[in-house]
Parts: sequence; C-alpha cells; structure tokens
Amino acid sequence: MRLPAVKHLFKDGPSAVPGDWRGQLRNQIRSIDELLLFRPELVGHVAVDSARRWEADRASRSFRFATTRYYAGLIDAGNPECPILAQVLPQHVELHDLKSSDPDPLREEQHMPIPGLTHRYPDRVLWYLSHHCAVYCRFCLRKRKVSRADSAPRRDAREQALNYIASHTRIKEVILSGGDPLSLADEVLDELLTALRNIEHLISIRIHTRMPVTLPDRITPTLVDIFQKHYPITLVTHFNHAAEITEAAAGAVRRLRMAGVLVLNQSVLLRAINDTVCAQQELLSGLVRMGVKPYYLHRCDPVSGVSHFQTAIRAGAQILQALRGRNPGIALPRYVIDLPGGGGKVPIEVDYARGAVPEGGARFSNWAGEEFIVEDTD
Ligand SMILES: *Cc1c(COP(=O)(O)O)cnc(C)c1O
Ligand code: SF4
Repeated sequence: MRLPAVKHLFKDGPSAVPGDWRGQLRNQIRSIDELLLFRPELVGHVAVDSARRWEADRASRSFRFATTRYYAGLIDAGNPECPILAQVLPQHVELHDLKSSDPDPLREEQHMPIPGLTHRYPDRVLWYLSHHCAVYCRFCLRKRKVSRADSAPRRDAREQALNYIASHTRIKEVILSGGDPLSLADEVLDELLTALRNIEHLISIRIHTRMPVTLPDRITPTLVDIFQKHYPITLVTHFNHAAEITEAAAGAVRRLRMAGVLVLNQSVLLRAINDTVCAQQELLSGLVRMGVKPYYLHRCDPVSGVSHFQTAIRAGAQILQALRGRNPGIALPRYVIDLPGGGGKVPIEVDYARGAVPEGGARFSNWAGEEFIVEDTD
C-alpha cells in the first residue's frame, strides 16, 4: 500500500502528491475503512463495537464522511478525544438527536431570492457557490445540502445571482460561501471576482473557506495572485483548535497575507473539542502568531444531528471573560449567536457594568473582578 509510506514522508500532514490540491481532493479519504487503512493506529478509537460502527456508517450516509489525507494526518492516535478526530468522525449520536430535528433552524433557504443566494441583512448577501469541502465537519450548519452533489447550485444560477447583486444597490458586501468556494477552479473564481469588482455599489468581497485548515496546498501562488489582482479581498477561515495550526497552514496564511488579503478566523464553540479557557487561549494566540485576526466565536447552532456539540450560551461568555486581561485585545473574537428562525447574528457581550452610583457615575468590574467607579458627564 502506498498510503502509510506517504504518511511517513510528510511529517506535517501527509498528502498524496504535495502541492497538487486537485489530486488531494480526488484522493480524499471517503470511508472509515479507508481511514483505518491510512491510520491503522486508530483502530482502537474508531472501530468501537460493531453496532456503533454500523450506526456511524449510517450517519455518514446522511452526511458524507470525507477528509483530506493532510487533515487525517493531524489526528493524534494517542488521544481518544483528539479534537481533529472528533470533528470528522461520524458518530452514532448524530442519528439520535433528541434536541433538534430542524435541518435549517436559521431559515437560510427561506431568505433566498435566487437559488444559492441568502439575502437576510439589507446590506450583505451570502452566496453558496459549491457544496463540496475538503473535509466534512460533523457539526456543519449546512448539513442539509453540503456534501450532496445533487443539491449544488447550477451554473445558470450564478448568472442570476450576479444580476440580482448588480441590480440591488443596497447590497454592499458579497460573501462567497458554501460548502467551500475554494473547491472551484481558479479560472471560475477569477471570473466571479472580476464580475463582482465591476459592480460599483459593492464595498467588500469576502470569502469564507476552511481550506487553509483542511487543505493548505489549495492556497497556491496562482490563487493568491488572483486575490492580489482583485485587492482588497477579505478571507475568513475556520480554525477550531490549536492542533490545526501547522507549518503548512501557517504557510498558506503567509501567502495570503503577503498578497494583501485580510485573513480573519471564525470558529465554533464545540463541546469537548474547544470549550475550555485553555483550548481557546492556545487557539487564539496561535492564530495571532501566524497572522490571523480572530473575528467570531459562534455558539453551535441547533441543527439536526449536531446538538451533541452544543454548549450552554453562557459558556462562551465565561471563556471570553477569563481571556480578557490575559490575552491581547486583538486576539479576542466576538462571541455571537444566530437567532432562530433567521433573526440574524447578535453578539453576546460580557457585561462589566455594575450599575449606577448614587453620587453620579457608574460602577464597573474589570477582567480580574475588581470594582471601579467611573465619573460620568451629561
Ligand atoms: C453570518 C451571516 C452574514 C455575515 O454576517 P457578519 O456579521 O457581517 O459577518 C451574512 N448573511 C447571513 C445570512 C449570515 O448568516
Ligand atoms: S468546511 Fe464549512 S461548509 Fe464544509 S463541512 Fe465544514 S463547516 Fe460545513
């Protein structure tokens, strides 16, 4: 078998052919058996008992299992609770979600004037360009369509979406999303960016992609040249754990930054994966160290089959409170929650106000819990 040998060659995460991102996508690991061939040391964590294994296989039929060899190479076989494994491995609990049976709690499909375009806020649209990803994350908010080839937006829908954006001058920003928009070919991305750049009322083009985390080789010199040509581009990526911060990932971020791309990160607060102060501190400082500004920390949405990842609303606020004062301000994301039924995102702030003072002024507590009075003016 060539796989174990290949893995041996690339310490930083194996890939079928280094640098060849298309080959790596074609060579995705697509079954648990294949994963075990590639990482035989995982048998103890993955196989469990046959009943659970059967259910995990069933779970991967309702939402595909796939990972790049690079990402699977990051799994720590010595840790049964490895945060990488927990993000990709289908679990029987996905089929027994007692808390949510709603595949689309944010009503993304209802605010869709054109297939593949969600227009919820007056000034920005979310455009789902591809339903493919390098890795399928078990907590994916868009399980209902991501990974299903038959649900991918058709080519002529792109034309319609561009016309819609061009004819609605209230739209200031277009967010290319998915799935993963960087699954598309360079030429297609270049064409889309050119078309969007020609729309005068747009002030911002943003790309949401997990490729720097799951397939850093996708960030090729050709791709960053395209981004540079269409400057300024904002790219929001999705690191969830410090274990995802590798030399390869840092290289991808570096190429983006050198091409003038603003690189931000959004992560999802996930039970037993990154829901501790320590895990967040390592993640956030690792991000800033490699040149990524943390943007959002999301509370996991109540999507059917995902509830086991959800944390209490207060958990994220408590973590951020503990981090303020211990971490540079630029390393702190905003903690946000998506309101059900398509209400949009709201930030959940840590509340430092401790009420008014009778003599005038207001009382606050700081990150360490000490209290201070601030004088006020009219
Ligand atoms: C999250 C989201 C956006 C982007 O929101 P920002 O706060 O600008 O990052 C836009 N449209 C929809 C439908 C969203 O869910
Ligand atoms: S990369 Fe994003 S869209 Fe794709 S499976 Fe993961 S969370 Fe879902």
